[in-house]
Amino acid sequence: MARRTARAAPLAAKWQKLAEGRCAEKGERLTPARLAVYAEMLACGRPLSAYELIALLEQRQERKIAPLTVYRHLDFLTRTGLVHRLQSAQTYFPCDHPENAHESQFLLCSSCGDVDEVESSGIERLLSRIADERGFRPDNAIVEVKGVCGVCVVGD
Ligand SMILES: [Zn+2]
Ligand SMILES: [Zn+2]
Repeated sequence: MARRTARAAPLAAKWQKLAEGRCAEKGERLTPARLAVYAEMLACGRPLSAYELIALLEQRQERKIAPLTVYRHLDFLTRTGLVHRLQSAQTYFPCDHPENAHESQFLLCSSCGDVDEVESSGIERLLSRIADERGFRPDNAIVEVKGVCGVCVVGD
């Protein structure tokens, strides 16, 4: 029987290159399985919980996938900065601009589920100054703002 290669969502060359770059920088290996998870998230275009992601991957690859495997891939993707974890919603979202390491701020729409990643160096500086003044050493300074996006506000 011919060996079947795992099916994966199409991945634009741009993202593939970015993923390769991040991995090279971090000394990580970009396996086809890891890349397939990343491609699936980009194809979906909205934040996904681990279980939603597993369901999508199972559908595409037509086989059962162990949740632990997907959690490991998600861990890898967040570690390399390709994907952000939205803590409040416990979902994962591909970064807009993984080419440089950054803290993130997110505007989360509670109506349509849209996520807008903004990168404000002003907020980053302010947070690190506040932390500094208190002798606090932050592990991560991800800011998540919940509310209603511009499109949904207009549609109200
Ligand atoms: Zn980002
Ligand atoms: Zn919205």
